[in-house]
Amino acid sequence: MALPLPRSLSPSKVASFKDCALAFRFSAIDRVPEPPTPAATKGTLVHRALELLFCEPAEERTLPTALACLDRATEEVTVHPEFTGLRLGPEARADFVADAEALVRRYFRLEDPRTIRPIGLELMLEAKVGTLTLRGIIDRLELDEDGGLVVTDYKSGAVPRVTYEQSKLGGVHFYAFLCEQVLGRRPSKIQLLYLSEPVAIVAEPSDQSIRGLQQRTSAIWTAVEKACEREDFRPRPSRLCDWCSYQAYCPAFGGDPALAATAVAAPVVVPVSVAPVL
Ligand code: SF4
Repeated sequence: MALPLPRSLSPSKVASFKDCALAFRFSAIDRVPEPPTPAATKGTLVHRALELLFCEPAEERTLPTALACLDRATEEVTVHPEFTGLRLGPEARADFVADAEALVRRYFRLEDPRTIRPIGLELMLEAKVGTLTLRGIIDRLELDEDGGLVVTDYKSGAVPRVTYEQSKLGGVHFYAFLCEQVLGRRPSKIQLLYLSEPVAIVAEPSDQSIRGLQQRTSAIWTAVEKACEREDFRPRPSRLCDWCSYQAYCPAFGGDPALAATAVAAPVVVPVSVAPVL
């Protein structure tokens, strides 16, 4: 019997399928919950703080305002299961918040938020391409000085090596395609703001990049359809396994994929040794 197709593709699902088809299956088809990680939750916290900052009038988007926004975001996030599930002790919690503050402070070395003209924050866009639904949430959509659209994606993880920069831009190219489909305008610029260094990786979408995105996404969807039809999602061991929550169900680690179906009701929590790169 064929497996059900996922309802949509997002940049993270596309990346997940390319990295390891079996991990994609556990996440997108079996919907096995993943335990929270400090790095991912810290990313959520910093994203929320910057979202709140851009809800303020332009002239008030200063560092003190950003730190006040971080305080508000911390109050929200620290009662959420994504945070409480981390079970951090007082010292680890203080380090967690201090790390988030360092990321917010470094953001100010990338740009002056008072000059940014946001028109969408945490903006969900969805487009149909044939039978496929593409979906994504854009951290920030803004207008440049010429009225062009700019797509900004914040990153709280490590900056990629130069050879990986293009592949890391895949997600924002995906958002550029969604903008063109939904809003009828191609962004003039897409950018990744890495808060850890801080570093901005910038690109301009073109006919070629949009065409390439469409072709790659269609090819991945065809591969997903085939894998579902044949129930054939193979493990692809790599260094990413160190951060994978599904080792307990993965044959590459002596696990049984059939147990994943029962994990939806009672997830197996697998400790991971190293923080993930977002
Ligand atoms: S442990 Fe590695 S090979 Fe197995 S599902 Fe996870 S990423 Fe794939």
